[in-house]
Amino acid sequence: MTLEPWQKIIKQAINTPAQLCAFLELEAHQLAPMLQGHELFKILVPRSYAQKIKKKSLDDPLLLQILPQAQEAMTVPGFDQDPLQEATCAPVKGVLHKYHGRVLFINTGACAIHCRYCFRRHFPYQKQLSRKDFTTLIAYLSKEQSIHEVILSGGDPLMQTDSYFQDLLNALDPIAHIQTLRIHTRMPSLIPERISEAFCSLLAKSRFKKVLVLHVNHPRELDQHSARALVALKKAGFVLLNQSVLLKGVNDDAKVLAALSMALWEVGVLPYYLHLLDPVQGVHHFKVASKEISPLYEALTALLPGYLLPKLVREVPKAHAKVLQA
Ligand code: SF4
Repeated sequence: MTLEPWQKIIKQAINTPAQLCAFLELEAHQLAPMLQGHELFKILVPRSYAQKIKKKSLDDPLLLQILPQAQEAMTVPGFDQDPLQEATCAPVKGVLHKYHGRVLFINTGACAIHCRYCFRRHFPYQKQLSRKDFTTLIAYLSKEQSIHEVILSGGDPLMQTDSYFQDLLNALDPIAHIQTLRIHTRMPSLIPERISEAFCSLLAKSRFKKVLVLHVNHPRELDQHSARALVALKKAGFVLLNQSVLLKGVNDDAKVLAALSMALWEVGVLPYYLHLLDPVQGVHHFKVASKEISPLYEALTALLPGYLLPKLVREVPKAHAKVLQA
């Protein structure tokens, strides 16, 4: 099978702590603490992302997002495997129906990067993924007339090929009450090559309203290549939004978050959500202390026009929507 350029990039990604150490010129003794975290959730970092990390710098905010750490093996009260109780919101395989009018379609467990704070790092993908023929999804959507939006989530849905998207669009097309297709992805900033002309033209031709929610946490993740991919998506008819997670050591600074909003605005993306960390087992070291959150968000509010201020939200199991924190 011939691989697409973006698939080759993923194949060449860094996938061992030793490779990361060599690439970033870290000391040999800095390798040992990574191994425990790596055993629990394998490291995966595209080389283009690794190139944006400062060499020999263990506290680089881009490095912290992907660095396996020994703390991931600790058991901490309040942090568990399914804090959002997603297992209780799955009416059929592959579908999470949490909120009115929209469903998440979990179509892959694969990602192009392994974010250490990932809220689905323990998600039972093997049990949940539906078959590729979409039968279960289509049967559920056809019966649930209140659903107008399908959100492709994962994993990263853009790990699927164009022919998968073609099949999915064909399957969804006859269901008249589905009006909007939303994609949650890190790909345009991570591997802009994924946003090919063929992909854009395929989506541009579909009848659906299209929303792409990017996931960028720090302004240094964006560059001229991601800007080009985002322009192409906009031309294909996508509304572009961004969601970030508030992460200790990465973006828990009003000036960094303001710079992120400005950098997103520069490339035509509106900041949408700033999520509080979901308390997933193995991620407690990213938690920003509760007492620091309000002052930080107030400082951010003072730095930005309202339309560039992401909503500060927390996901609460069984709630009817994300819960606003400010
Ligand atoms: S890209 Fe998303 S789903 Fe994949 S590891 Fe990162 S946060 Fe998790």
